[in-house]
Amino acid sequence: MSSGIAFAGAQLDRADAIRNDPDRLAGLMDWRARLLKLDGLAPSVTPDNTLEWGTLADADPDSDLVFLGLLGGKGCFAEVSPRLDGSIAPFNPVVWRALASLEHDDLAIYGAARSLVDWHARHRFCARCGQPTKLAKGGWQRSCGACKADHFPRVDPVTIMTVEHDGNVLLGRQPRFPARRFSALAGFVEPGESIEEAVAREVFEEAGVRVHDVSYVASQPWPFPSQLMIGCHAHADSADLTIDATEIEEARWFTREEVAEAMAAGAEGGEGTAFIAPPPHAVAHHLLKWWLEQ
Ligand SMILES: [Zn+2]
Repeated sequence: MSSGIAFAGAQLDRADAIRNDPDRLAGLMDWRARLLKLDGLAPSVTPDNTLEWGTLADADPDSDLVFLGLLGGKGCFAEVSPRLDGSIAPFNPVVWRALASLEHDDLAIYGAARSLVDWHARHRFCARCGQPTKLAKGGWQRSCGACKADHFPRVDPVTIMTVEHDGNVLLGRQPRFPARRFSALAGFVEPGESIEEAVAREVFEEAGVRVHDVSYVASQPWPFPSQLMIGCHAHADSADLTIDATEIEEARWFTREEVAEAMAAGAEGGEGTAFIAPPPHAVAHHLLKWWLEQ
């Protein structure tokens, strides 16, 4: 399952071979090349609700350029400005408007660019020896001239799961959620864990219930800053819950009918629904849709 998942499905050829070939990369950096316009890390959106592109002449001479890939044979780049301060950018209203207005393909290109540019801004120094690092391989690596260590863009795996028991599904809410919103439980995969083990640990930590038969459903790149959401389904051994109030505010079982009504009512929620469903740009929305179709 992948159709309609936000931030996935970019129609861009990542052209890995070009990243590793400085001559071919330089050959792409002419007047035909396209520069993705970003305002800090926020997208620049045209009145037609597409991503705004310029040419490399628009780039600040002090910036590094990252090679996003090829679109229609043209090299596509994004700019890493030395003025990007490397702090984790807070969620920004411009980004949320873009989520609603950009076409699927554009949103995926933006997500990849944002994640990569943000990684460069936050990794200017070597994690091994502390010396400044330089962008390499078209932006898909940073290299340390002092200790020769290479560093690669991060992808942080997060498991997110629907948990089923007796035909009902377990959903939780975090204190930061809008009122009445419930969503799938989620948590980062830790070193030394399989995806299945991370799912079982997270569900037990947050809701105090043991699960079995974990299966993979769908995934989503989530560029805030670099998560890979790994959507799974699991079966609970019992319906008894022990909530960890430090992680979630509430967790409850919902019937198939309650989920179907909430999904039909949309992310704004209707009167009389049991809860407000996660919005379509969240992979949890797609997990619930998948679950209803089972
Ligand atoms: Zn180093």
